[in-house]
Amino acid sequence: MNPILILCYLYCFVFGCCIASFMNVVIYRLPRGISIAKGRSFCASCHHMLHAIDLIPILSYVFLKGRCRYCHAKISIRHPLIELVGGLFAMLSFAHYGFSPMTPLAFSLAMVLMAITMIDIDTMTIPDQLNIAVGVIAVVSLFVYQMPLLQRILGALVFSGGMIGINLLKKDSFGGGDIKLCIPLGFLLGIMNMTVGMFLAILVAGIYAIILLLTHNTKLQSHMAFGPFICGGCFIGMLYGGQLATSYLSLFGL
Ligand SMILES: [Zn+2]
Repeated sequence: MNPILILCYLYCFVFGCCIASFMNVVIYRLPRGISIAKGRSFCASCHHMLHAIDLIPILSYVFLKGRCRYCHAKISIRHPLIELVGGLFAMLSFAHYGFSPMTPLAFSLAMVLMAITMIDIDTMTIPDQLNIAVGVIAVVSLFVYQMPLLQRILGALVFSGGMIGINLLKKDSFGGGDIKLCIPLGFLLGIMNMTVGMFLAILVAGIYAIILLLTHNTKLQSHMAFGPFICGGCFIGMLYGGQLATSYLSLFGL
């Protein structure tokens, strides 16, 4: 492999880890109503200010053996894992789109969807600020790639509208955050990729729900976070929607 390309991947990985490190702050602070812009990072258990050396993605966790330097409280393994995932998403975006404005666009989307996923798992809600962030990426995408406006509008309306319709039939089937998320996501992906994304989301969420029911980990009436499935499905839909749709249709000779 070309050494310059290896350097590009390395740069993507380090950059991705650093952005994901910031997303860890977002994931912690946003649901708690703490400002993201103001205030240095602090330890969640002793509230000691953290220094630059404590904040190096992944490496700080490894060197501190997963404990706070000041109070020795355990730091969740989730933090370095999220940083690692951020690095991998940056490399994946670059591998898929190369030197094009699509790379930062896809990576930005991945980071916002990652934050939505973690916050939805933690709190069963999706903060409006993050849905607005997806909206901003969707508007920026207008200048990055061409897609007929009708496809975008259909993408924004079909699934959010469908979820509102299902909610009218059976109250609270979908959370408000899930419905709001589908509007900018659909506008960004367009109806075709959004359909692939939502198909994957519903399929995987359904399998997951059946496993939970069979293992008696949940009741039929209880709710589960659907946001993570939407996020995962739609990111795959954005990257591979076209290929997946073509191979799926070819199964039926279409
Ligand atoms: Zn501490």
